[in-house]
Amino acid sequence: MMETGTIFLVGAGPGDPDLLTLRAARLIESAEVIVHDGLVSPEIMAMARDDARLISVAKKRARHTLPQDDINLLLVRLAQKGHDVVRLKGGDPLIFGRGGEEAELARAHGVKVEIVPGISAANGMAAATQIPLTHRDAASIVSFVAGQCKGLADQDWSGLAGKGRTLVIYMGVKTAPQIAEKLMADGLTPDVPVAVVENAARADMRVVRGPLAGLPDLVKSHKIKSPALIVIGDVTAREDAHLEQLALEAHQ
Ligand code: SAH
Repeated sequence: MMETGTIFLVGAGPGDPDLLTLRAARLIESAEVIVHDGLVSPEIMAMARDDARLISVAKKRARHTLPQDDINLLLVRLAQKGHDVVRLKGGDPLIFGRGGEEAELARAHGVKVEIVPGISAANGMAAATQIPLTHRDAASIVSFVAGQCKGLADQDWSGLAGKGRTLVIYMGVKTAPQIAEKLMADGLTPDVPVAVVENAARADMRVVRGPLAGLPDLVKSHKIKSPALIVIGDVTAREDAHLEQLALEAHQ
């Protein structure tokens, strides 16, 4: 009987191949089968072997090419046929990546799973924009939340944003108006600084900033498109202050 393969759940990071872990790069370069989603950049896909079988399970909001249950099962079936499968995902597999569900089904079928972490969008964004997620003077708590997914109204975000805290919202472009409303209903003042970062850590990154009350307008007027992160908190206003200070010093 053929030996069952291993499923590797691999984080591809924000898109730049330089931001892959060495383990991820080695697995991508040697894989015979890669199951990938839409967030994985063409540069990273180009690292695959010429004869690798590439299976796209790209998902767009509201247009699911392949339901998650089918993806979970596809991975198991491929492994049961004796293939080692690289399941490649944008960012980190275990942050809003549904890697947990894929690993659960694999384990339920007795298929071996290895998980390789990736740089999540929030980490890539922080480095690329120089917006710190935590800062001794501005934030000692950071939370990652999903702005879409399960119903927004059902999610309890109280206490996650505000003084001394950074809130990073994934998948929040479409629901930006409801997000601003929800946070202000939770007690945040309209002037809390916000940044929206589109295509973080990629060549076409865009960063726009404003007060919380202006978030819906900011997203709309700049035509922000997914993938983007919404970052709420004082850390988003520090970088400018710092750069302005440097510019002042340079002029003295
Ligand atoms: N597992 C991924 C997240 C998948 S959910 C990770 O760890 O990064 C998809 C959401 O991630 C997008 O809607 C967007 O909010 C965010 N995202 C992914 N890549 C991004 C990028 N390069 N810039 C900004 N946001 C990104």
